[in-house]
Amino acid sequence: MTLDVEYGPHDALLVVDMQNDFCEGGALAVRGGAALVPGINAEIEAARAAGALVVASRDWHPVDHVSFAHRGGPWPVHCVQDTEGAAFHPDLALHDDTLRVSKATAFDADAYSAFEGTGLAGYLKEKGIERVVVCGLALDVCVKATALEARRRGFDVLLLEALTAPVDPDAVDDCRCELTDAGAKVRP
Ligand SMILES: [Zn+2]
Repeated sequence: MTLDVEYGPHDALLVVDMQNDFCEGGALAVRGGAALVPGINAEIEAARAAGALVVASRDWHPVDHVSFAHRGGPWPVHCVQDTEGAAFHPDLALHDDTLRVSKATAFDADAYSAFEGTGLAGYLKEKGIERVVVCGLALDVCVKATALEARRRGFDVLLLEALTAPVDPDAVDDCRCELTDAGAKVRP
């Protein structure tokens, strides 16, 4: 079952950080994270069938990353490169032609947006992408940052809110306002 998004060849479906550490049982689990997988898989199939690009970002930190609590950062240790926690959720149906984008790979800088420091915007423009359809984890952190940066980089943005989950449920309303104020469309 899909959300009936009309995908086309100028769209990219951007699946944000569907990694073990952000799902139940992970180091920085988001409530409801794992439950998003079947719906996201259906969107991946619908996007591919319509000739859209599929991109999966991942948080991909070195050990002792600056965002970790023992380094003075806001988060527990999570998504350390090449660990099970950093792996994509095992049921996420990524294909060989899914683009994998790793972010926040430097010791000394964090990045919430999949566009930050990755070169992704330029690549998508080269491929003729005009709209980015965003889902994944977590709504109020990396999904929001990714959607906002997509707007700043000149893409149309559609957020699939039902295929996201927040770290802080109380932040959802503000988050939705911020996104719509920035010109993103939000599909409930
Ligand atoms: Zn992180």
